Amino acid sequence: MDEQKTWSIADANELYRINEWGNGYFTIDDNGEVKVSLKGKYSQSGMSLMEIATGLTERGLKMPVLLRFSNILDDRIQFINEQFLEAMKETNYKGSYRGVYPIKVNQQQQVIEEICHFGKQYHHGLETGSKAELIAALAYMDDPEAYVVCNGYKDEEYIDLALKGLMLGIQTILVIEMPSEAEIIVERARALDITPIIGIRMKPSTVASGHWTDSGGERSAFGLNTTQIINTVDYLRGEGMLDSLQLLHYHLGSQIPNIQDIRLGAQEAARFYVGLKQEGAPMGLLDIGGGLAVDYDGSRSNSANSRNYSMKEYCVDVVEEVMAICDREGVEHPTLMSESGRALVAYYSVLLTNVLDVNQFPPEEEHEITDDVRPVLENLLWVKKSLSEKNLQECINDLNYYREEIRMKFLYGQVNMRQRAAAEHLYWSILSEISQMVKDLEYIPTELSNLSQQLSDIYYTNFSVFQSLPDMWAIDQLFPIMPIHRLNERPTRRATLSDITCDCEGKIDRFIGRDEVEEYLHLHALEDDTDYIIGVFLVGAYQETLGDLHNLFGDTNVISVTCAENGNFLLHNELDGDTVADVLSYVEYDPKQLEALIRIKAEKAVSEGTITAVQRRKIISAYSAGLRGYTYYETDQED
Ligand code: PLP
Repeated sequence: MDEQKTWSIADANELYRINEWGNGYFTIDDNGEVKVSLKGKYSQSGMSLMEIATGLTERGLKMPVLLRFSNILDDRIQFINEQFLEAMKETNYKGSYRGVYPIKVNQQQQVIEEICHFGKQYHHGLETGSKAELIAALAYMDDPEAYVVCNGYKDEEYIDLALKGLMLGIQTILVIEMPSEAEIIVERARALDITPIIGIRMKPSTVASGHWTDSGGERSAFGLNTTQIINTVDYLRGEGMLDSLQLLHYHLGSQIPNIQDIRLGAQEAARFYVGLKQEGAPMGLLDIGGGLAVDYDGSRSNSANSRNYSMKEYCVDVVEEVMAICDREGVEHPTLMSESGRALVAYYSVLLTNVLDVNQFPPEEEHEITDDVRPVLENLLWVKKSLSEKNLQECINDLNYYREEIRMKFLYGQVNMRQRAAAEHLYWSILSEISQMVKDLEYIPTELSNLSQQLSDIYYTNFSVFQSLPDMWAIDQLFPIMPIHRLNERPTRRATLSDITCDCEGKIDRFIGRDEVEEYLHLHALEDDTDYIIGVFLVGAYQETLGDLHNLFGDTNVISVTCAENGNFLLHNELDGDTVADVLSYVEYDPKQLEALIRIKAEKAVSEGTITAVQRRKIISAYSAGLRGYTYYETDQED
């Protein structure tokens, strides 16, 4: 960053790459605030995230909070459907498209309800991977032209439920994932006297790159290999049920960054589809699974956090591959189905969180070197004096050596705490000087290259990585993170983020950078009288479901936001996050019993005279209020 240049919104755009990953949904407005842009009916208007955050605080709603933007979900569903239909029109494909949303990607009730609502005009259905998900799907799906695709291991109860879904007029498809499932399906369909719709999940030999490589290939956990497919076809034929076999499904893995893998997968599946047709199954449906990736880092590359293709390219390529093989074999074009989850819901949610405190490296305040500490600092002061561009590496070595020496002397009682504090302070300020000089070097030795990270601040932020961003912790996935306001001001600090769990893994130190992953985020210095709010974007897929209760930080508050007719924002579906009592009960505590135990302790203390009766009342009421409170850091709010 050229520190001399004046700062503009264009610089903020470039620094945070919001136009690259924001996909038109998130931009920076003229006031330096992140704006949520809507499409279609409300395309002229946008909502400032900071105005929403302020509105939430005024209403007494606390950070961290997850915002869901229904208009974005509506747009995503429309987009994938329109893109497939357009690709089919352009290529003269004769089949149609039916999407199904995999519930596991975000199974919150509101999400499923909205997907069924927005998806109705396209007959967008649902995909389930368990009995529980099917139970939810059967309740919310009421479109007789949409499909409910049942994947996952199936016992008798799961199969019965799917068959009963058919009786209710819902097109429920039972996908055979394990050879043994075919027999149970045939037996239960006979027992209930229902003609099932059957699918087969194949194991593709295509292995896609990215985080989820193991979902494809011969050793993938799910699906049937070629021999098992043939055996299943023979079995169904023998049982007089081959007529029920209508669908072929495969899934190469989630977040597939490279379009070549998608093309290869579609080719292989189309060959199997044709094979099943040639075996005499009626077929008609080819389900290409999930995998359509999201460009989290905005690089449009085939890195694991990105994708090297657009939605349009994805649709056209799949359609063309399937069409070419079907045409060659004289087979009718199937209805194409896809199970995109991430690409539908990732943009939908934004996590907002407030910064609670900061640990600055080097500390900002000057330390006066008093006579009682000076003798201890002599070597460090000598390093400071001899600093020059030519001896930076040597100075760092000396600096580390002398600091260690002072620490050892402290251990042996030869240096006192005040002297050690002065030495630490001097160490950091010399390191900071070195890092300024390193910037001017033409060649930066490796040992000097990570100084910026060592010197970056730690911003303590009110959330839990484990609860709200589990993929960031577990698989190093990147999410776009940036302040949602003050973007018309140059961010002068470099920082990593620390969450409020007591875990050294509860941090974020990998961020989307201008050219590559950066080890720090550019942030503004905190101001005394205003909250500093950071947004984590594109968190609608998988994060809500996979989160855990590390340190008993529970679900965050969730609020849906839509744009009202007058352009103002409208909050609805306000869901309170977990209270302390909620999370304690998840791990088998009984909040009532906890209160009772405290009462007993307090009463004993009163009878022993260590507290008064009034103090007992105050202790108990504070304890009860604590149980009812939010699990995150609560800032006092004025009335
Ligand atoms: N379908 C199946 C069978 C899956 O296992 C998954 C997730 O891995 C999906 C669909 C959703 O994938 P994505 O979120 O990449 O669209």
